[in-house]
Amino acid sequence: RTVYVNGEYLPENEAKISIFDRGFLMADGVYEVTSVLDGKLIDFDGHSKRLERSLNELDMPHPAVLPDLLEVHRELVRLNGIEEGMIYLQITRGAPGDRDFVFPDPETTAPTVVLFTQNKPGLADSPAAKKGIKVISIEDARWARRDIKTVQLLYPSMGKMMAKAAGVDDAWMVEDGFVTEGTSNNAYIVKGNTIITRHLGNEILHGITRAAVLRFAREAQMQVEERSFTIDEAKDADEAFITSASTFVMPVVEIDGAQVGEGTPGSVATRLREIYLDESRKAAV
Ligand code: PLP
Repeated sequence: RTVYVNGEYLPENEAKISIFDRGFLMADGVYEVTSVLDGKLIDFDGHSKRLERSLNELDMPHPAVLPDLLEVHRELVRLNGIEEGMIYLQITRGAPGDRDFVFPDPETTAPTVVLFTQNKPGLADSPAAKKGIKVISIEDARWARRDIKTVQLLYPSMGKMMAKAAGVDDAWMVEDGFVTEGTSNNAYIVKGNTIITRHLGNEILHGITRAAVLRFAREAQMQVEERSFTIDEAKDADEAFITSASTFVMPVVEIDGAQVGEGTPGSVATRLREIYLDESRKAAV
């Protein structure tokens, strides 16, 4: 695989990052995951706007390559021959040459920029989407700025391990009695013709797929309510699903051992997945 590190395209085993990189020492970094379908980038504009916001929220200097990231993404897709898959992008505050809690002087330390591809043939035609996934609920023990897409992913990773230990696919996190989101996705329930998903705030990541799916839902005359919901309400819903750049729209058929609706992917989730895939393919760059 060819990867991108600070301006260079290199074989992955030749890519090097300093041991003093603040991404490595302090999780002082932000990231984006953009999916690739038909060799093209899905929702690139949304991901690049959120990236800029994450950098700004953390007072992280903008790397010089920022305006050219579309070209870098495209070049990596080309070099690796990706038809379906993902591109991972990470920007850290760089490697100041020692460990210090204080941010380094942006005049002397440049951000570290890394991109790599993940080849996933069959990403859109996913068997999981036909079956639906199962989730458990867990406490949301993350920090309070989940709206910033940082590389601080230990708790979501632990959540995935809790799900795995329970024999299911993912975990929905709960704070003060209400669902925030999945470990790496936004969470939704459906009641009749109404789609319910948590309102935006610092408690959840502002999903790029979420924004697109809610827009398509409204355009298709579905009702959307952006509000908190509980696990009990979710168990009682007609349908449930998640969204993310790598899963698009994925039905959820079981929550904490209770079957949701018929226990099979619901018609709203299935339809939204089709609309999302069709429309985002058309708009892909
Ligand atoms: N919520 C969390 C915690 C995530 O990590 C992600 C994506 O990785 C999402 C939501 C979905 O965001 P997007 O649709 O932009 O991929």
